[in-house]
Amino acid sequence: MASVRIDQDLCTGDGLCVQYAPEIFEFDIDGLAYVKGADGELLTGAGARTDVPASLRLDVIDAAVECPGNCIYVDGADGTPVAGPEAAAAS
Ligand code: SF4
Repeated sequence: MASVRIDQDLCTGDGLCVQYAPEIFEFDIDGLAYVKGADGELLTGAGARTDVPASLRLDVIDAAVECPGNCIYVDGADGTPVAGPEAAAAS
């Protein structure tokens, strides 16, 4: 299963990712976006990673491509970057 994390140091707090995939992304009280666990609980550790269900994969990839901070990292099941700064660097 794909996974995703956010580098909060670069997050601008615009909320685009939350619009694309509210099941995965949410703001904490610091105004920055974080990922949520499968149980919907916000993972407030910096750079915390969560699994991306297949049904949300395209929404999460769109969020990573559009993210103004270029700080959403999406990795495939084998750990290969599929969207985000590392994927862009690899292509
Ligand atoms: S789209 Fe990127 S910069 Fe915007 S809130 Fe989400 S993680 Fe932060």
